[in-house]
Amino acid sequence: MVNQNMLALGQTRSCIRELFEYGLRQKAAGETVYDFSLGNPSIPAPPEVNETFVSILRDVDSLAVHSYTPAPGFPDARQTVAEELNRRYGADLRGENFFFTCGAAPALVSVIRALATEGAEIMAIAPFFPEYRPFVEANGAAFVLVPADRETFQIDCAALEERITARTQAVIVNSPNNPSGVIYTRATLEKLAEVLTRKSAEHGHPIYVISDEPYRELVYGGAEVPFLPDIYPNTVICYSYSKSLSMPGERIGYVCVPDRVEDSQAVYAAAAGAARILGHVCAPSLQQRVVAACAASRPDLEAYDRNRVTLYDALTSYGYRCVKPDGAFYLFVQAPGGDAQAFSDQAKARNLLIVPGGDFGCPDYFRASTCVSHEMLLRSLPIFEDLMKPYL
Ligand code: PLP
Repeated sequence: MVNQNMLALGQTRSCIRELFEYGLRQKAAGETVYDFSLGNPSIPAPPEVNETFVSILRDVDSLAVHSYTPAPGFPDARQTVAEELNRRYGADLRGENFFFTCGAAPALVSVIRALATEGAEIMAIAPFFPEYRPFVEANGAAFVLVPADRETFQIDCAALEERITARTQAVIVNSPNNPSGVIYTRATLEKLAEVLTRKSAEHGHPIYVISDEPYRELVYGGAEVPFLPDIYPNTVICYSYSKSLSMPGERIGYVCVPDRVEDSQAVYAAAAGAARILGHVCAPSLQQRVVAACAASRPDLEAYDRNRVTLYDALTSYGYRCVKPDGAFYLFVQAPGGDAQAFSDQAKARNLLIVPGGDFGCPDYFRASTCVSHEMLLRSLPIFEDLMKPYL
């Protein structure tokens, strides 16, 4: 006998992975495939990232490089990351507020587990990153979904307020958003803060924001990503270098619990405890050193921006409807005919792989990743145009 919940999770195939693997099989069979399924960075890490890997391996004592680190990470690396955020946002973070993890996913699981008290409800805003659901439910909390405003994909704060109960422990906020690419505006976040502050007081306990920020640096046209702890003090950050430094396979990110978070020390310690039972020993020591040395590095986003504009302009000119994304590397598009699964199946029959939005909480939308080759994107456009024709 095995744990039935884990069995079900392990046997459920992610529709994104399935599409991606289908594409690989088609390619192996000699087919031309237009794959917009995965959110895998397609621009290289900034050169200094690779140079830092090399120089650390060359210049630092091998035993030290490959050793265990303290569970939260090297103190000096945490301090450097804190100072970089202080410099950018005028924050007052200390190294002790940070806990390095193997990316945003384990950061999220640790914080969710830390906040999943008996009977807790944890909210997310649809569209949402599909892993939130198992992260919340497998940790014993109820997953409560609130639809975003359908015109703008900003948070619908009135709908969110209606769903808050005495059991609400946290709201997961992801901006820039996967899959919509939308950045929640300062006005939206101020309204959210106002609602959460009022509801926390009404229910007599803090409602935390878990700010999932892997796309914080992937922003176009000078758009602003407001720093959420400035707007709502009870914000815990889950960050990742997967997308911002194009190194998803290196598995490095962090939890940050600022001092101004209510019961910050308990939240931090509980997240550390949760990480422990997830088998966290420490984040990779080499990667901790690299991200500290490259704390201010950013990749050149020109290629993502060009894809974003080209695909958005082309699809909207064919009659598709889509909010223009200011961040991340996705387009979230209304499925012609209203059934994204059916539309994605039609596209798949032409080797165009787009992800139906059911798992993101919007079954009438599909996601197209723009972290793809520009040349492939250009070649796919006639297929997008053809697929739209019966719906015009
Ligand atoms: N959160 C969101 C919104 C994501 O899109 C992803 C990855 O695609 C993650 C978290 C997990 O990122 P990581 O690779 O750092 O675990």
